Amino acid sequence: MESDGQYFYHPLENIEDIDVFYDALDRKHLTRSISPERPYTYWTIELYDQKNGIRGGGGLGVLAADTRRIAEKMNIPFVLITPFYPSEPHQYLKNGEVCETHESVNYKKFGFKYVDRVNFKSPDGVCYLDVIEKVFGNTRIISITEPNFGELYSGTSNSDHRLYQEVALGFGGYAALKLIGLKPAIIHLNEVATFFAALARLDELASNGMDFYEAVVYTRKHTLYTNHTLVQAAEAEFSKEQFDRYVFPNLKSLALKKWLTDKFVDSKIKLSSVTIEIAELRSGVSKLHARVANYRDIAGNKVKFKAITNGIDLENWLLSDLYNFYQEIGLIDQYGAPTLNYGDNIGYLTIDEIRNFKNLGRDILNRVLKKHPDQYGNILNFDQDDFIFDFKRRFTDYKRPDLPFREPARLKNILESRDAHYILTGRVHTGDNGMMEKLGRILTIIDEDEFLKTHVHYLPDYDEELAFGLSSGSNTAINLPIVGLEACGTSWMKDVGNLNLLISTHDGGVADASLNNYLNVSGVDEREELNMLYQRMEEALSVWDNDFELEFWLQQQLRAYLPIISGARMLDDYLDYLFH
Ligand SMILES: *Cc1c(COP(=O)(O)O)cnc(C)c1O
Repeated sequence: MESDGQYFYHPLENIEDIDVFYDALDRKHLTRSISPERPYTYWTIELYDQKNGIRGGGGLGVLAADTRRIAEKMNIPFVLITPFYPSEPHQYLKNGEVCETHESVNYKKFGFKYVDRVNFKSPDGVCYLDVIEKVFGNTRIISITEPNFGELYSGTSNSDHRLYQEVALGFGGYAALKLIGLKPAIIHLNEVATFFAALARLDELASNGMDFYEAVVYTRKHTLYTNHTLVQAAEAEFSKEQFDRYVFPNLKSLALKKWLTDKFVDSKIKLSSVTIEIAELRSGVSKLHARVANYRDIAGNKVKFKAITNGIDLENWLLSDLYNFYQEIGLIDQYGAPTLNYGDNIGYLTIDEIRNFKNLGRDILNRVLKKHPDQYGNILNFDQDDFIFDFKRRFTDYKRPDLPFREPARLKNILESRDAHYILTGRVHTGDNGMMEKLGRILTIIDEDEFLKTHVHYLPDYDEELAFGLSSGSNTAINLPIVGLEACGTSWMKDVGNLNLLISTHDGGVADASLNNYLNVSGVDEREELNMLYQRMEEALSVWDNDFELEFWLQQQLRAYLPIISGARMLDDYLDYLFH
């Protein structure tokens, strides 16, 4: 109908009206089952899947890769749609400063097959995207790409190029799905950069004869928005003018254009606010995060998020012998989900097994370290009985990589008491000058002390391999987000799974269980937290020297967190939320 220049516009004031409208609808339109032709579709601007040639920036991409791998194990028809970035940044240190190089990546080297081209409208005219695909069992990765697509997260978050990438993923990815002959049973949006996929869906429905509000309701009922952020206010905005150039030319439905135009406030739009309007299903990534995420819909009502705590693909992240052992003793099933009586079976994880698996992990770590020299260009190699603390995560303010270095003399005393090492690794976001400076100060503190120089190691260019090596081969992991700011975090999950002792603040997914289950750091201010951190580090040293204590703590950590860290549990939770 829209193609005739006519459109139907029912002025509905707010969400309640849409719900009333929905109640009156014939529900037969809501197809809710998954099949190979109608798969679960998962949209993500970032995928972290180095084995398949796609390197992400952090946790958001790791989560996407794990979710697909678990769907493959569980035989769920699942399509992940993401860009293939033809260039990826790498970081290295030069004279104590973080520098970047850019490597080009060829999808053909990673088993992707070229399918065809799709196009969408960009300000420079029609833009063609290559559609490439890789199939894994009942799942696949569909990517769109072109030589000038650029890098992940290049430029500022409200730049034209970011909008271009996001629009390309949404409209190009949706066209790619159709090209391959797939219809989405569900559109799962991994954060708001993927909003345009749901918009493309709505446009297709609305321009093919479905009444516009029926199309809105239909899209809303079939779209899940997973939020990973805490404060809506901090989100970057796009302008109406940018949308006029990049978005509106791709819409066919006049009613949709009107609907979208109405969502601008002072000629600005936050993607979260429109994503909330288009997705009735909304989730947060840990219990705490779902509770505290502060989002409002356009009518000003607080948005409720269903808590579905992230999990990891245990098979991918655990030392493979350890994963097999967990299955043998009945902790997890064939998908990596906890068994009904896993809590009792944890008793089979004895100190001898623990020490044995940690020795295997140490060998793996040494192998990984061969490819990752430290800040002095040295290749590290550790003995089985060397003690290693590690801090491995994106270098961003709220994660506080600098906290342990506030009192270098105390840090030194602790490490000296056991001749222990501290490994620090994490990528600084390009352009984050504040963090670059903090890292520079940490490196100076280390460099000015003969002991610290040989016992505190910074490894640039943090990646999945280092995450795996450290979680399996180090002794104690340190996780210090400012409480209230971590949505979930997944590196601590790799640690708990791989029998690393965890020192952490009570935040993100860690706070899904009680704080007695790991070496908790808390306090009324940073000073108290710092004291407690040093205390916990001393405690960790003594726990590892005592078989009874070590077995007790590692069993307790795993008992409390196994269901939480299991990605199979997470996918089950999503399916339950969507289809029951
Ligand atoms: C697991 C992982 C992350 C996630 O880190 P969090 O700080 O826990 O969110 C980031 N980057 C890499 C390379 C990882 O392997």
